[in-house]
Order: sequence, then C-alpha cells, then structure tokens
Amino acid sequence: MKALVLKSKGNLAIQDMEFKETLGPEDVRIKIHTVGICGSDVHYYTHGKIGNFIVKEPMVLGHEAAGTVIEVGKKVTGLKAGDKVCMEPGVPNLRSRAVIEGMYNLDPDVVFWATPPVHGCLRETVVHPAMFTFKLPDNVSHAEGAMVEPLAVGMQAAKKAAIKPGDIALVTGCGTIGILAGLAALAGGCSKVIITDVIQPKLDIAAGYGMIPVNIKKQNLMDIVKKETGGWGVNLIFEASGNESAIKNIFEPLCPGGAVVFIGMPVEPVPVDIVAAQAKEARMESVFRYANQYPRAVALLGSGKIDVKPLITDKYKFKDAIAAYEYAADPKPTSVKVAIEM
Ligand SMILES: [Zn+2]
Repeated sequence: MKALVLKSKGNLAIQDMEFKETLGPEDVRIKIHTVGICGSDVHYYTHGKIGNFIVKEPMVLGHEAAGTVIEVGKKVTGLKAGDKVCMEPGVPNLRSRAVIEGMYNLDPDVVFWATPPVHGCLRETVVHPAMFTFKLPDNVSHAEGAMVEPLAVGMQAAKKAAIKPGDIALVTGCGTIGILAGLAALAGGCSKVIITDVIQPKLDIAAGYGMIPVNIKKQNLMDIVKKETGGWGVNLIFEASGNESAIKNIFEPLCPGGAVVFIGMPVEPVPVDIVAAQAKEARMESVFRYANQYPRAVALLGSGKIDVKPLITDKYKFKDAIAAYEYAADPKPTSVKVAIEM
C-alpha cells in the first residue's frame, strides 16, 4: 500500500510499502481518512530525532488519525464495518504494571505510532486493537476525529489540574495544544481562560473561543492577571509553550495554593524557581500523552461543547503530503492544524 515514509532526516517519500499485519480476534482494520500533522511529526522530519528517539530506518509518519472500519476481528463486538472512528495511537502492554496501576500512558513498552521504530498511520489502512478505536458520532467529521489526539492531551492536563468550578486559568503558549488545553479547561469548569503568546493571529483564534488573549510582546501579563482575578492570581496555569522564558517566572501569576500543569516539552533542561513555588505552596503536575481521555474528548465534540473546526486551518490531499510537511515545517502564523486527507 502507499505510505508517507520519512527515509531519513529531511527526506520524505510517498512509496509502496508492505506491512506484516494480521487481523487478530480483537483487532479492527481501518481505512485511513484524515491524518493531522503534529509538532512531533514535523520534528522527526526536520531533525530526525526527538531526545532518545532517533529515526534510524525509514518510518511512516502520522499518529493523529480518523478513518472507517472495513473489517473486524472475530471477538470484536462494539464496532462494525462502516463505522467512522478515531484511533488512540499508543497501545500499552495490557499486562504491564503501569496498566494495572491505572496509568497506561506511562507503560515503558507502549507501542506508539510514528515513534521510532514504530510506523505511523499515514498509509492506506491500519490494523488496530478495537479497544483503542473509538466510534465517532454522526455529527463529528473525520477531520474533527483526527483532532481528538491533541485534544486528549489538553483533556489530560485539565484532569491533572483538578479544576474546581469557576477557577480562572492561564495558558502559556497559544499553539494547537495551548488552545486545546484552554478549551478543555473551559469545558471542565473554568470561568475564564487567559492565554499568552507573541503571535497575534494565533491569539485571535483563541479570542474567537472567548479566551482572553495576551500578546506578551505588547501587553503586561501581570497587569491583566491582576485585573481578571481581583489581584489574587490565577488558580491554574497550563504551561503549553515549553519555552524557557515562560517557565522562568511561571509561578508569578499563580494564586497561593494554585497549581501549574507542565504540558510543553522544553528541548533542553530549563531552570525552575523552586522558592517561588514554595512561597505559594504551588502544586505541580505534568502530563505525558493521556490515558482514558478519548471517550471523553469524543463526547465533548459530539455534544458541541468543544468545536475544533476553526483549528483545522489547512487541508492537503495525500498525493501532496510532502508539500503538506514542508508547509507544516514553516507555516503561516494563521495556521493551526495541517491535515492530510487520504
Ligand atoms: Zn500529536
């Protein structure tokens, strides 16, 4: 079948590839419809590695996907051919200690699409466990279904934040994940979300969702936080930039007893002001991917409480997938999610 293959750093090709996949009794075979391009996909394309994950052999990219079930294994009951679905890209070893302890996303043996050496899903069909495949409601499109993956990261952050109704949140970083964390925070009970960045068109998109945009190039964040919180500080901070300068003063806008959730991944280790955290008895949380968020994310899309359509800014056909990656590596500031349709 045809696949988009990262042959080596900076070298992509659409080519025929054989996959040794057999449909097990608890698997489904899915015809891929839409695959979103993630920051990690772009990073493998431009740098050939992320941390210790190094592309050593040709690898198919893509992990944010939706499609249609075309075949089901003998023991599958909840899905049938023709179902529109999205797929959770990470499959843990179901007998692992991490799974038993309820944090399957932290299983060291998780098999995750497009993380070397595992092939991703930018190809015609995949075989996937039914229990990590989720039916989409009729009113949710394949393109929106492919957005469930990054939304699940925002949902995981909202869960780790332990939002109380009416909390005021700050999101630092207005990329796809920052906006989706803000939407998850609003859906989870936050009364207001302040969001920062330096790229105005991205802030404008967040403002369209009712978030309070702060362009930190031009505006003073602390003045706005004081105004919006009556001088107390925000209850929750979602750090979604991974940027050293954002992390340096991350506790400053926080209220006493508040919490910071670290989502963004700095490329290098960065300093954190522990005393500033202690002075507020700040709770610190972190997220790595997500666990048990897909059904909730799909439900929020189906209910209309979260609308990801304005975030799907660029669509490419599979035959133009290389151009899509070139664009995603250097997008216009108005672009949020680049999606490829098979
Ligand atoms: Zn992703």
